Amino acid sequence: MSPVLGSESNPLRVAIVGSGPSGFYAAEALLGAALSVEVDMLERLPVPYGLVRYGVAPDHAKLKAVTKVFAEIAKHPRFRLFGNVALGRDVTPAELGERYHAVIVATGAVSDRKLGIEGEQLPGVYAASDFVGWYNGHPDYADMRFDLSSEVAVIIGQGNVAIDVCRILAKPVQELRRTDIAEHAIEALAQSRVREIHLIGRRGPVQARFTPKELRELGSLPGWQPVVDGEAFEPNKASRAELADPANANSLKNMEILRCFFARPLSPDRKLALRFLLAPRALHGAGRLQRITFDVQRLVGDPFTQQSEPDGYAVELEAGLLFRSVGYRSTAIAGLPFDARRGVLPNCQGRIVSESGQALVGWYATGWVKRGPTGVIGTNRLDSVETVERLLEDLPTLDRPGKSGRPSLIALLEQRLRRAVGFEGWLRIEALEHQRGAQRNKVAEKLTCITEMLLASTTVPGTASF
Ligand code: NAP
Repeated sequence: MSPVLGSESNPLRVAIVGSGPSGFYAAEALLGAALSVEVDMLERLPVPYGLVRYGVAPDHAKLKAVTKVFAEIAKHPRFRLFGNVALGRDVTPAELGERYHAVIVATGAVSDRKLGIEGEQLPGVYAASDFVGWYNGHPDYADMRFDLSSEVAVIIGQGNVAIDVCRILAKPVQELRRTDIAEHAIEALAQSRVREIHLIGRRGPVQARFTPKELRELGSLPGWQPVVDGEAFEPNKASRAELADPANANSLKNMEILRCFFARPLSPDRKLALRFLLAPRALHGAGRLQRITFDVQRLVGDPFTQQSEPDGYAVELEAGLLFRSVGYRSTAIAGLPFDARRGVLPNCQGRIVSESGQALVGWYATGWVKRGPTGVIGTNRLDSVETVERLLEDLPTLDRPGKSGRPSLIALLEQRLRRAVGFEGWLRIEALEHQRGAQRNKVAEKLTCITEMLLASTTVPGTASF
């Protein structure tokens, strides 16, 4: 009889795909379980940490401190990072499934949602997710160009990403310069002519998705005055019920902050307008964005499920720059089922299921690709714990022969001449980024080119010359 799965002589071999927060929290939960387990983490880029590195705004350094926790997890002797290895590009789901007892997909949500309105393709209209990737030095976005020559910028959507975009547009460049923001972004932002920003939601202030801490920050941007229309403080009956619910404390705090903004005396500062109940209908312009038509909205429905619908009026706004910040979206992975409507891998508490609802033995999901793009970094911890709990419950069904794990993956990658970057390689890249940052008096200067990253991963810091 073969030794039980999870024993020293038959360790549970798990591949985690994606090295963002949900991937690392899944690794933590597995390595902390009372059994023998080997965890191999695949990451398509040579560098780890996903949205912590490429999504968190550069001026929110404290949020990035969680990478210290992830680095500790990576030091575990039974953990190994395979950076520069992508599921679907370098190894297929079938090849991974053959080699590991279980695979946890933690690939997040890298694509963005569209508005689906006329004029969305006009120059001057951008996805917030592209802007975020660009200012954070993500290699996929480093060559993009953002035309910041318009005096009026509009951001559609009222989540925390919209607030990040707003802050980066408005914050003094000398403050951003010290962070790990990409140098190309600093150069472009220093030339920005944006003098007025409209942060626009289709529903009311009670339904806005941003969190109070992030909203409050908009009140302390030097040279900018947040402006709120008095009508924002006349919530309908259902919105009043939402505000009265103790579970909805964030909305109540948001309303208090908005009231403080409203009470400020008008100043000659640049205007940062928070506007509600406006849904973009069409974007107009000859050759580039010039004007936006909005349908004024009213709210319909019961508390917490209120939706917006046109109220019969339209308003126009002249603007040459627009960011749609209406949420991220996961993309399908060839060979795995995908729920295109929700933009997630169909799953039941993390167990990936087929279209007919049948669990795919050995396949799990966690993070945004499991539940959609919601929650803060810490939300992923509980999410990954749930997925790992289900995986451990399934242990008896996962014990199949031939799951040789790491050596077999390494052999496959060698056969394909794919060079994987381990955690030590990442530490070398990180050291070089810090070194380059120190030369510019900033936290770090991220490498934005994959070839440079690969070279740095094998080079002792201080000896590389680019
Ligand atoms: P989000 O919080 O889901 O906000 C999306 C916004 O887009 C909502 O205001 C939504 O309005 C609006 N929207 C959606 N479709 C629209 C349409 N067709 N037309 C107009 N408006 C539309 O998404 P997010 O800002 O991308 O953030 C994603 C997650 O990351 C969130 O959980 C967020 O808290 C988190 N995050 C956290 C931080 C931080 O902690 N500092 C920073 C960045 C991101 P409705 O409500 O009406 O749908």
